[in-house]
Amino acid sequence: MEASSQAPLAHHLRIVLVGTQHPGNIGSAARAMKTMGLRQLVLVAPEKAPDRDAQAMAAGADDLIAAAPVFATLAEAVADCRWVLGCTARSRRIQLEPMHPRAAAARAVVAAASGPVALVFGRERSGLDNEEMALCNGAVHIPSDPDFSSLNLAAAVQVLSYELRCALLDAASHDSGGEAGGSGAALRTPPPSADAATHAQLEGLFEHLATTLDAIDFHKGRAPDSAMRKLRRLYLRANLDAAEVRLLHGILADSERMARLAGDRTMRDEIL
Ligand code: SAH
Repeated sequence: MEASSQAPLAHHLRIVLVGTQHPGNIGSAARAMKTMGLRQLVLVAPEKAPDRDAQAMAAGADDLIAAAPVFATLAEAVADCRWVLGCTARSRRIQLEPMHPRAAAARAVVAAASGPVALVFGRERSGLDNEEMALCNGAVHIPSDPDFSSLNLAAAVQVLSYELRCALLDAASHDSGGEAGGSGAALRTPPPSADAATHAQLEGLFEHLATTLDAIDFHKGRAPDSAMRKLRRLYLRANLDAAEVRLLHGILADSERMARLAGDRTMRDEIL
């Protein structure tokens, strides 16, 4: 099978650029993607709208920029995604264990069979902030020199797009029964459930979890942020499907009900 027949998979692979400062980088990123057969470019609050610089650097890939949806927040840009990966130049300072680009691309291609997958790239000056990284199921780090670790934004997009291309070719070769030229890692990764939860469903679960933890007085006066961050990491790592999210909502709803009943009983005992 030709790699072009993997088009439905490639269609689910989204490159998201957050807060890009130089329009030229948007153009270079679009070119990097198009050379590797990727077309789904999404912009989140670019500092400057794509202009002539972007067009010049795109060198024929400006159709990707013209078609790129623009969102105000990363949460909106990935709401329908089944898997979200944050690309970061800082391997040591992030909470998530970073993945190697090759392993990440292999998993992304497998996950793309069940829905949209996003690879998220940050601002030239400051990368992705903590809140944005907290929206990601995992982190990817290109193993650059630790003393000079930050690639140009479009160069980072090129590396990941190349790895995605190789993983797509690998999957295509496997489909046709041929020997994969690449690592074959995608083929060893168990496919996620076709009913994998969307990002919006997971955000709904986190909101419910936060309310329930308050209702059962889990934090006991402590700030909830650290516990919530850890719980997010746990649930995002678990690759929940939609039925599992519903099950957890059910447990939370019952916990809230029991907390209400316990509260009523205490009040009655106090009155009596
Ligand atoms: N000064 C910023 C670097 C931003 S570079 C910082 O310290 O985070 C712009 C974007 O390119 C980053 O947000 C990241 O998405 C991507 N990038 C750059 N170098 C990378 C690397 N070594 N691995 C993965 N992504 C990288």
